[in-house]
Amino acid sequence: MKTTKFRRGVRVVHKSQTYHIDRPVLLIEDQRALAQMAEAMLRDEWGCEVMVAASLGEARQLLDAHGSAFIAAVCDLNLPDAPYGEVIDLVNKYGVPAIALTGAFGEELRSMVTKKGVVDYVLKEGINSYEYVVNLVGRIHKNISIKVLVADDSLSARAVLKHMLSVQGLNVLIAKDGYEAVEILEQHPDIKLVLVDYNMPKMNGFTFVLEARKRMGKDQLSIIGISGENGGNISAQFLKNGANDFIAKPYSYEELICRVTQNLEMLEMVESIQNIANRDYLTGMYNRRFFFDEGYNIYEHAKNSGSSLFIAMIDVDHFKKVNDTYGHDCGDMLLKHLAAQLGAYFRNDLIARLGGEEFALLIADEDIQSAHERLETFRQHIERETVNFGTTNIAFTVSIGGSHHPLENLDMMLKTADENLYHAKQRGRNRVVA
Ligand code: GH3
Ligand code: MG
Ligand code: MG
Repeated sequence: MKTTKFRRGVRVVHKSQTYHIDRPVLLIEDQRALAQMAEAMLRDEWGCEVMVAASLGEARQLLDAHGSAFIAAVCDLNLPDAPYGEVIDLVNKYGVPAIALTGAFGEELRSMVTKKGVVDYVLKEGINSYEYVVNLVGRIHKNISIKVLVADDSLSARAVLKHMLSVQGLNVLIAKDGYEAVEILEQHPDIKLVLVDYNMPKMNGFTFVLEARKRMGKDQLSIIGISGENGGNISAQFLKNGANDFIAKPYSYEELICRVTQNLEMLEMVESIQNIANRDYLTGMYNRRFFFDEGYNIYEHAKNSGSSLFIAMIDVDHFKKVNDTYGHDCGDMLLKHLAAQLGAYFRNDLIARLGGEEFALLIADEDIQSAHERLETFRQHIERETVNFGTTNIAFTVSIGGSHHPLENLDMMLKTADENLYHAKQRGRNRVVA
């Protein structure tokens, strides 16, 4: 179930059940009430295990037992046996990312804490601070699978950036100039963010941004320009060339991290909007709209290159009976199961839920015989398998209609596949007709 919260008048839908953190969080806090609240919030949001320590001694025991399994440690800086933030040194020793929590904050403490390499520090000011902590834990978990590229000709600047970003759990790649940065971007198309210096030999920051944007749009890659030079309107030039943001040197750790996080969150928001537009809510598969958008491109490519293209319509047999006998929830579960099986069997092909219990599949660059055989294997697999619903095992079958290129357009291919699906149903279901 989704939980809905109202925050600052905006309705925020938390996808707590869809994003799960599979590693424990270490919570080091001596005030029981606070610990209980934070523990509940972390569990609620990420479904993760939370281990609580009320002192430095207890934290050491948990770290000894579980080591680097912890995704992060939320650390109260004032503990009965460690009143001056000593807990950060302990957590650092085990290589666990530390989030510092403190009741009061002075400049001295702030510089001590940032020097020790904490992910972030949070002032204990009530429930809002804990929401911030909960989000931060999620950020660290997401960062572990995010690649960031740093392009700077200065060795020391690269080292500083690499350190700051690594503390956040990010995977950092390094380029010494714009030219190398383009090469790395081509080798790692899954890079999500580039931090690029303006003044570099071979290729400067502006040219890099132009080159990067030829390859990746703003919905795929975020770019932050960095420069210490004030003249020449550098920040505006970076943005005009296609950068998302700019940071002026010298910058603080906090400013850097805030901007990095904001840019990553922006990409994730765009991705989630794209998913809402292109995916089916029940199964998470692509929907009809995406199938046709992408399908036309694939069709054009096949037509122009003369390569093969196979289309299939897959429909559950007597699905209405499943709903009538076991209920709508069971029908939904069966659809999710079928979607997962399709995803596993046709990993590299375009699959979509066109509607109801009807799925479409586009197989490119494969000879017709082998595409047909894969569909037949899939049909047999579905026939053999049963789906577990409560205490009953439900067996079901699918009928498949197919057609292949050359036909005059994608709609004709789909129409022919649909006719063949009708024939499959007429001839007794549970078969492939192509
Ligand atoms: P056939 O073998 O001829 O395909 O028969 P069928 O019963 O599978 O096909 P029919 O088109 O008669 O019925 C499809 C049913 O699918 C009717 C509709 O209520 C149900 N359905 C459509 N979408 C959903 C859904 O998202 N969830 C569930 N549980 N049922 C759905
Ligand atoms: Mg305390
Ligand atoms: Mg059906």
